[in-house]
Amino acid sequence: MKIAFFSTAAYERDWFIRYQGHHTITFIEDLLTEQTSQLASGHEAVCAFVEDDLSEPVLQALKRLGIGLVAMRCVGLDNVDLEAAETLGITILHVPAYSPYSVAEHAVALLMGFVRNLPLAHQRVLQGNFSIHGLTGQDLHGKTVGVIGTGHIGQAFSRIMLGFGCRLLAYDIKPAQALLNAGVEYVPLPRLLAESDVVSLHCPLTAQTNQLLNADAIAQIKPTAIVLNSSRGGLVDTTAILNALDRKALGGYAADVYADEKKWFHRDFSNKSVTDETLNRLRSHPRVLLTAHQGFLTQEALQQIAHSLILQISFYQNSRSEGISKVSM
Ligand code: NAD
Repeated sequence: MKIAFFSTAAYERDWFIRYQGHHTITFIEDLLTEQTSQLASGHEAVCAFVEDDLSEPVLQALKRLGIGLVAMRCVGLDNVDLEAAETLGITILHVPAYSPYSVAEHAVALLMGFVRNLPLAHQRVLQGNFSIHGLTGQDLHGKTVGVIGTGHIGQAFSRIMLGFGCRLLAYDIKPAQALLNAGVEYVPLPRLLAESDVVSLHCPLTAQTNQLLNADAIAQIKPTAIVLNSSRGGLVDTTAILNALDRKALGGYAADVYADEKKWFHRDFSNKSVTDETLNRLRSHPRVLLTAHQGFLTQEALQQIAHSLILQISFYQNSRSEGISKVSM
């Protein structure tokens, strides 16, 4: 198939380029928007990522160009208008799972970095300042960790935390038997929030989970607890998190995601000004540790994403030529 690959980053190009024999891929650096959608002209499929715009007007523009397939190289589909795609007859593929360890281990890295003050410690060493004054951290052993969403990533994260000697509480609309067997206790959300020293988000962003941690929910969390968000920025009310941190009503926030990250993440603004006040509050807050959506960024995950997506695109192509009308996701 001829695939227009939007918002191409150098780190992923190599993993997809090896499939050029199977499909013809045009790498485009621009983000997919209504304006840039014209770059898909002459292709049959579009490949996009979390920061691309797959709203109804963009899907309509793609349909007019004859695009019948959008292949998302990610798990979450919160930036895709699935209803509009269905109405327009555009098939949406995504990567249902890839190394859950990539994101789970990044969440652990954020947590460890936060509780042991690693960013500040490293900065000091770079400056030749070997003082450890003010770097006192805390053990994770024996702490209660509350996991919201126990799918692929939530389960991988829970197992690592069990290995640390933590007590695990979980909340999910569909409990995982494997975690129950491992001694994880499923509890209602208010109890998880009230008892956890670490609250870690691993559910998708949906209408039900949008701002799941709003001001009311944050008020139920222990004032010393750390909220860990490696899932989606929209799962929390960022301003309410920052206000709680300022009031010392929350211990810390460590995140790999931000609600308005599309405008900023995965691009270099070091010589320009960042004009997003909430993002600036996050960046400069002494009790926030933020990375720019890199949880998926391991060699293993990138390899699996490319392999899974190309396999599905080939299956879609074959099933169409054999006259199968519906492709299972
Ligand atoms: P998954 O589908 O395997 O698991 C999601 C879990 O959330 C499921 O167990 C589901 O039952 C649960 N869930 C759904 N709605 C819920 C609700 N209302 N309340 C409680 N639980 C609910 O997905 P996954 O592979 O584990 O990924 C989880 C999320 O991680 C993705 O949706 C995505 O937002 C995020 N993610 C982030 C990165 C990154 O680079 N930071 C990379 C991949 C995925």
